[in-house]
Amino acid sequence: MDSNIAEVLEKLELSKFRNSFHLRKYLLKYIDEKGISTIKRHTVDFIEEKLASAHPKNDGKQTPTKNHPTFIAMHHCACCCRSCLEKWHHIPKGRELTKDEKNYIYRLLMTWIIREYRG
Ligand SMILES: [Zn+2]
Repeated sequence: MDSNIAEVLEKLELSKFRNSFHLRKYLLKYIDEKGISTIKRHTVDFIEEKLASAHPKNDGKQTPTKNHPTFIAMHHCACCCRSCLEKWHHIPKGRELTKDEKNYIYRLLMTWIIREYRG
């Protein structure tokens, strides 16, 4: 695992709020049914749809807290909105995400999801 990603995941685990988000059984089952490659594709789409633009729609409320493993990962990893991205990951609000930033968020979310999935 990427050492930076591992470090960030460790910090997130120390936050009582962030660490209250975990994949429940129905979401582990969802991964079983859809397969990891589908979850990866959805994750790319959600980053694009909910975070990538300079001013995402309903920013702060755009990420549900149930019904998809990636949504839970976004909350656990503080990638749920642009304010959390700024506070936790020092990615400034008010401009589009760069390719590198999107890639970082993707790696963080997928590392966490796979870790939860494999237990
Ligand atoms: Zn947030």
